[in-house]
This record gives sequence, structure tokens and C-alpha cells, in this order.
Amino acid sequence: MKLVRFIYAKQEKWGVLSGNNINIIDGNVYNNVEVSDKSVSVDEVKLLAPCSPSKGVCIGLNYYDHAREMNLKLPDEPLIFLKPSSSLAHPGDSIEYPAISQNLHFEAELAIVIKKQAKNISAHQAYDYILGYTCANDVTARDLQMKDGQWTRGKSFDTFMPVGPWLETDIDPHKLNIKLYLNNTVLQSSNTSNLIFKVPELVEFVTQVMTLYPGDVILTGTPAGVGPMMVGDKVVVELEGIGRLENTIVNEKLGR
Ligand code: MG
Repeated sequence: MKLVRFIYAKQEKWGVLSGNNINIIDGNVYNNVEVSDKSVSVDEVKLLAPCSPSKGVCIGLNYYDHAREMNLKLPDEPLIFLKPSSSLAHPGDSIEYPAISQNLHFEAELAIVIKKQAKNISAHQAYDYILGYTCANDVTARDLQMKDGQWTRGKSFDTFMPVGPWLETDIDPHKLNIKLYLNNTVLQSSNTSNLIFKVPELVEFVTQVMTLYPGDVILTGTPAGVGPMMVGDKVVVELEGIGRLENTIVNEKLGR
């Protein structure tokens, strides 16, 4: 099932997507999904990120091919860092190139959206706490990340966490082709079978540390081939069986 969050007639809704049709859900998607008899076309709505995270928990080096490319030793345990909720961007939104960075990078990633409050969840319980899977771009100001050592500034600008276009609830997350297109050229191409730490292990590891809330998101790491983006570029993260998350790069909008 594909779960989609969107704006229609100035109201935020959830629905179930089939083809171009969205069947609107009554009530809370995190509890039980009750589909109404109302429907709209996906062309009539503004898609939103299919989650409202209190935080994005991101995994550092987590693909075998990326580790080989960087000549890095495989990690003994996941490296985690956070993106703030303010960095969330929706499908089709602009990603803002910060005025204080000269090296903005894309990172195509599989994202996990959490279904219910989770703390100290073992790997074998993990799937009960997952609502679904989607695409994300772990946008990174690489120069600031390297300059600071700490990753917070380089990873946390507004618009640096695009997520979407919708959730797939029934899919094996470890068998998906993952691709990144920059202006229609494939620059990352891998498969989630190359994840070093798998989805259940990540849920266990993260929830040893912090409580995850419904709508929180885990970005599972990026494969080989990360690289720079420029103002005017169109960037697409594509996950097989899920969909395509498309955003464009613009100059930072100052003076909000
Ligand atoms: Mg990343």
C-alpha cells in the first residue's frame, strides 16, 4: 500500500495512492487506516513529505560499496547523527544552497518512517514499529561538515532533508535498487542489499539511545557516488518499488 500525505482544498490529508487516484483516509494514519469513499487525483494535490518528524536520525557510512569507494574500514556499529525537524522538505520543494557553503552534496537514501513510540526495541520487534519506507536526500554542505568535525551545521540547514514522495508499507527494504539522478544523469546506483546494518538492526541501535515517535524518520545511509549540486540543478532520488523524489536547487532565501 502506498500512503500519501498531501494538501487538498487547503487541508492536510492522508490517503492511499493507487495509480493516479488517492482514496482519502479518515483519521490518524499511525493507528488504523480507514479509507473513506472520497477520492482525488494525485494531479490535483500538493504532495507533502509522508511524515512529520520530531527528528531525522541519520546513519553515517552504511553501504559496502561506499566504504570500498572511500577506502574505509567497515564500521563495528552504526554512526548516528541528527537532522532537525526544520530541515524537512517536501516533494517538489526547492533545496536552498546556503550562502556560507561552496560545496553542496546529494546523498540518495532509503528512509524508514516510524509508526508508534519506540524505545529499546529489539531487532526482531522492529518491523512492528515501522509504518513504511520512502526516499530521502541527506543534503550536506560538505565543506562545513569537514571544517567543523561535528556534523550538525553541515547537515541541518532548512530544506536539507527532502523526504517522499509517499510511503510504501509492504516491501522488502533490503532488495531495492537505489539511484540518484542529477539533471537526468545517473550518479549513484546501488541496491539496498548493500546496506551494512540492516533496517531491524538500525531500529534496535537507535532506540537504545532515544525514543522514536510516530512520524520520526531514519535515513539509512548513502551508497557510492556522492557528489556536488549547483543552483539550477534538478536532483532525483529513486527507489525501486517506491517512487521518485524530485527537488531543485535554488539560492538560499535570506531574510525570512
Ligand atoms: Mg547520509
